[in-house]
Formats: sequence, structure tokens, C-alpha cells
Amino acid sequence: MSQFDRRTVLKAGGTLVAAALTSCSDAKKASAGPAADTLAAAAPNWNSFARSLTGRLYLPASPGYASSHLLFNPRWDTVQPGAVVKAANATDVQKAINFARANKIVLVPKSGGHSYVGASTISKGMQLDVGAIRGLSYANGVVTIGAGAHLYDVHAFLDKYGRSLPTGTCPTVGIAGLALGGGMGIHTRAFGLTCDRILSMGVITADGTARNVSAAVDPDLFWALRGSGGGNLGVVTSFRISTIPGTKLGFFRLTWPESQAAAVVRGWQRFAQSAPITSWGNLHIDAVSNGTLSIHVLGISTTGNATAAAAQLESFVGSRASVRSITVKTHMEAVTYLGGGTTSPRTGFLAGSDVLKGPMNAATITALLGAVKAAARAKTPASAILDPLGGQATKQPAGGASWPWRSALGVVQWYCGTPAHPTTAQLKVAQTFITNGHRAVRAYSAGGYVNYVETGRSVSTYYGASLPRLQTVKKKYDPANFFHTSYTLG
Ligand SMILES: Cc1cc2nc3c(=O)[nH]c(=O)nc-3n(C[C@H](O)[C@H](O)[C@H](O)COP(=O)(O)OP(=O)(O)OC[C@H]3O[C@@H](n4cnc5c(N)ncnc54)[C@H](O)[C@@H]3O)c2cc1C
Repeated sequence: MSQFDRRTVLKAGGTLVAAALTSCSDAKKASAGPAADTLAAAAPNWNSFARSLTGRLYLPASPGYASSHLLFNPRWDTVQPGAVVKAANATDVQKAINFARANKIVLVPKSGGHSYVGASTISKGMQLDVGAIRGLSYANGVVTIGAGAHLYDVHAFLDKYGRSLPTGTCPTVGIAGLALGGGMGIHTRAFGLTCDRILSMGVITADGTARNVSAAVDPDLFWALRGSGGGNLGVVTSFRISTIPGTKLGFFRLTWPESQAAAVVRGWQRFAQSAPITSWGNLHIDAVSNGTLSIHVLGISTTGNATAAAAQLESFVGSRASVRSITVKTHMEAVTYLGGGTTSPRTGFLAGSDVLKGPMNAATITALLGAVKAAARAKTPASAILDPLGGQATKQPAGGASWPWRSALGVVQWYCGTPAHPTTAQLKVAQTFITNGHRAVRAYSAGGYVNYVETGRSVSTYYGASLPRLQTVKKKYDPANFFHTSYTLG
């Protein structure tokens, strides 16, 4: 069975890694003079490649290399790509793919760099960073976004037109990684996932062809890219996405004592099933270092008034919250409140997920709470965060999307903070929490959310019923499995 396993990935790239290593040392010699171009017929010509780019190429000896390849999670800082390409435009992306393919170099794309498993960096291979391709334009309700744009930039731009997008909340997450894996957030129930609203994408496939895929052109690739996660079918350079109104939102934040925890989970489940689609709320069950649990729901109403949504949740829980806050926020106040500001600092963490196929029974709720409680007793900074689906997320968008969890109740994320550079023992503690979480909800788990991908789980965990068709699309557009380093569809 194919696994999302970094070691497998590196092993799979073994011969390619050797080629990249050779290439890098030859590049240093090449800088000494033109004759170096002929040093080895099979060696990549890094100098000529660098000259062909509008953007920049960093090799390990280049000034600035050390900071050129970093991801959001400092845990991956020690992964050293053999080359980092900072693409300035789609033509650079095309050149990089053609160069890597011709020279048998493993290539991984990077946008915002938030991959949970460090999939946007690669030891000794080529990291293709589209971060500089971040232009934005708007007309007639449709935004065109360069694939390197971050979520905060997208929202700040759209705010000028009174528009918004359903996205996640972290300001520095890249639109590309988010949208290709689905994209869940406060608007999921009212407007669907980010991927559902994509109208077309500029994509460079493994053969170097630039395509503009949509429901009408390469519809199978369009379907596949909407939910399969980044890095496995091509490098997206731009998105055209249908926007939503950037209205005021009503917010509620309700806290209950730990003694009500099971009732809150039950109430949240009813809320996820039967609240109007204008209401959304995610449940946070946080381990506190004194061994207790902190329980709250953060929610919104797209009507602008959250009072009724909060009251409905309290009626489902069966008790009034011990701490209540109800506010109204403008579009950008909401964006910065949810994102904790306009940017977010690099953070160490280990996380995973389960997609809940339906409301959990009492025993499973007890087991879920027990998993977080065990972490609290061990002073592990862990959380279970339950995001609701339902509403528009149940509907297939026009043109279809491979995102497979339309009938699910919601997604539970198992999140554990770690030091920036965790020891093996610290990672083991975090992994134990995640494994315990999976075990607790096993009877209700339909799989995992690909944007919260973990190592060591089967591919079918993330794609469910979409897997066979995804594999067919993969064979058609990437028969040699060029994009194979993080998602093993091939
Ligand atoms: C702090 C934090 C908060 C988050 N909040 C949310 C949330 O609210 N909702 C939600 O749904 N998700 C959320 N996520 C998960 C996030 O959506 C995924 O981690 C996503 O893959 C990150 O995208 P990126 O572009 O930032 O990451 P990257 O690491 O750059 O890319 C992720 C994957 O996509 C590939 N890729 C990157 N660019 C391209 C491209 N142009 N074309 C093709 N493939 C590409 C990479 O190779 C990698 O496999 C959060 C993650 C973090 C760390």
C-alpha cells in the first residue's frame, strides 16, 4: 500500500538525488568559466538555467540560500534542497519543470510553505517556489490570484471591492496549497470550500505544457485539482475564483466548564447537523497545563447577528455558556481577528485529522475527551479542534471536485505544539496524542483531510471514493510520476 511517508519519498528519489548532487558541484565549477558547461554531458547546466530565468536560482553556495528554502514549521529547516528556484512568472515555472525533468531532478512546488509534512521542501532535489507569483486582479465578481499569494493579501485586496472568499484563517497560508486540498473555514457552510469556487486554473503539467484548465478544458484535471492536494498533478500558477460578499459578520465565543464537555460535544454535533447554513462554529477542546480541559466554541453568523446562533448552540448543549461574548466585525476585522493579525510567526507543531462521518456516540465522545485529558495530565500542549461541514459543503460544485467528504459531519484536527526543533522524544509525545485521537474516534472516522496530511497513513485515507479516478487522471497527465514526492497518487 502506498504511504504518505517522507522516508519512502526520499528513497523513491534516490537516483534523482544523486543527479542533483552532481549537478550542484558542477555548478560551482561552471561559475569559473564557460568551458565548465561541457564538463559532463549528463550534468545539469545550472548557469545556463539560471540565466534563462526571470526569477532567481539559489544553489547551496549562493548568498541567501540558507533562508531561501524555509517553511512555516521550523522543523524542516534542516532539509537542504539541492536548488531553490524563485519563479517570477509561469514561464519560469515551465522552465524549471522542463529542466528538472530533463536532468532527472526531483521537484516539489512551494507556495505558502505550510505543509504539515514538509512536502514543499526536498532534500537535495529542487524546490520550486511560486511565492513571487502573487499578482491579484478583480472584475465582475471574479478574482484572479497568482498562486503564491497568501490568504491575508487576498482578503485585503478583495476588501477594496467589498468582496471576500471562503478560505482558511491563517494569514500566511498560501492560496495554492489551501485551495488544491479543499480549503475549510468560517464560510464553508454558507459558501462551500475554497476549491468549489475555482473557475479555472493556470497549470504547468509534468510535460511542461501550460494549460488553462476549467470545467470545459481538461475537465478531468480540473476535477482532480479541486481537492487532491498540491504537488501531485502539476504546478498551478494562477487561479480564477468566484468571490462572495465581504459583509459584516456576527461572532460568538462561548465557553463552558470542563464538567459540561461531553454535553458541548453532543450539542456541537447537533449544531453541525441542523443549524442554518448561515451559522458556523468550531469546537476547541484544549489541554491546559494544570491537567484540565478548556472548552469553547468560536462561531459566526453570516447574517451579521450571532445572537440567535449562540442561543441555538446553547439550547443544543442544554446549558448556558459560563462565559459569552457576542460581537460584530467588519470583513477585515474578522480576517485579522481569526488570523491573529496580518501575519503569523513560524511555529513548530505536529498535527493530523479525522473526518467524522456522523455524530459520535457517548462512548466515542468520552474517548475523544479522554485523549485530550491524557495530554493535559502529561502537560502536552494539545488540542482537538472540530470544524463543521454541512450546508454548501455537501454540494458538488459545477464541473465537480475530487474533494471526497461531502456527506461528512465535520473534521477533527489533532494539533500539538512542539518546540521549533523538536527532539525525537518530543515528536513522539506529540505523535502519541495524535495516534490516541485517531484511536478514540476510529469508529466514526471516514478518513483524513489532505490539507492536514500526516506521514504513514494510506493514500486512500485522504481520497476516499475519489482515489480510483484520481489515479486515472494522474496516469493521463503525469504517466512517469514526475510529481511523486509528497502524494503518491502514481
Ligand atoms: C497555521 C496553519 C493554519 C491553517 N489553517 C487552515 C484552515 O483554516 N483551513 C484549511 O483548510 N487549512 C488550513 N491549514 C492547512 C493548509 O491549508 C495546508 O497546509 C496547505 O497545504 C498549505 O498551503 P501552502 O501553500 O501554505 O503550503 P505549501 O507547503 O507551500 O504547499 C502545500 C502542498 O501543496 C504543494 N504546492 C504548493 N504550491 C503549489 C502550486 N502552486 N501548485 C501545485 N502544488 C503546490 C506543495 O508541494 C505541498 O505539497 C493551515 C495550516 C497551518 C500551518
